[in-house]
Amino acid sequence: MNNPFEDLRGKVAVITGGAGVLGLSIVKAMAAAEMKIAIADINGLLAEEVAAKVAGETGASIIGVEANVLNRESLEKAKEEINARLGSIDVLINGAGGNHPNATTRVEQMEDKDLDDLSGTFYGLDPASFDSVFALNFKGTVLPTMVFTTDMLNNHKGVVLNISSMNSFKPLTKIPAYSAAKSSVNNFTQWLAVHLAKVGIRVNAIAPGFFITNQNRFLVMDEKTGNYSARGQKIVNNTPMGKFGEPEDLQGATLFLLSDASSFITGIVIPVDGGYSAFGGV
Ligand code: NAD
Repeated sequence: MNNPFEDLRGKVAVITGGAGVLGLSIVKAMAAAEMKIAIADINGLLAEEVAAKVAGETGASIIGVEANVLNRESLEKAKEEINARLGSIDVLINGAGGNHPNATTRVEQMEDKDLDDLSGTFYGLDPASFDSVFALNFKGTVLPTMVFTTDMLNNHKGVVLNISSMNSFKPLTKIPAYSAAKSSVNNFTQWLAVHLAKVGIRVNAIAPGFFITNQNRFLVMDEKTGNYSARGQKIVNNTPMGKFGEPEDLQGATLFLLSDASSFITGIVIPVDGGYSAFGGV
């Protein structure tokens, strides 16, 4: 069998949030497929550092560009730079996203004892933090898609890959804004796949299960002991493979959805979750 991802060689990919933990693993996979890559991250310095490091390790063409997925002007500016340095954009990965402690309830399920102090419940959530987590994950997928896919329209070919999450299918406790936003990402993935199907652009998503990264370390690890928190242990117990994922576990599904190997696939969300979404918990 030929290399099923051969068509990716030389294609120009933009990955938002690409300087993060999962982004880095995806960047490495795209570099191995000999794609040209722009890491577009709000942390421009880190994006440049990561780009230089992976380029040094692999010899691939990788640049780091500062871009805020919530600011259209910043995205337009990044696109100009990417076009000038790498050429026209073939692939967009919407990777920027995450949760925030201020949009997280302390208690999982309310009980009568919580009625005296609502601060740890849904009623104590800060609406501004709720908005900002929702916006980062949802609008932060919509806006970059508006800006970075226009070259694909001209080429009548292109791929968008959104990074959703397990909590898009069933919400996890404590994180209502993040769950609602990722659910919206799935819905938008299907909507846009239909909208763009006749102009040659495919739109899909992956839904990672549980990976320990900066955004969730405070929830799944016990800082003092270095062991799993009760929540971290619960996740492992509910993941049939019995472990957290490694960022490299996302690479196969990603390259598959980016390449012509999936040329008749659009509008799907692939769980990469060690079986979590298949398990009823008993
Ligand atoms: P991470 O925090 O390591 O990386 C996120 C990156 O996004 C960072 O480099 C950050 O600088 C960047 N970013 C934040 N705000 C931005 C903005 N406004 N504009 C541009 N860039 C911005 O997180 P990660 O775990 O690598 O997450 C990557 C994606 O995977 C996110 O969409 C996340 O929701 C999703 N995800 C993660 C997990 C997990 O277990 N870690 C599970 C499911 C889904």
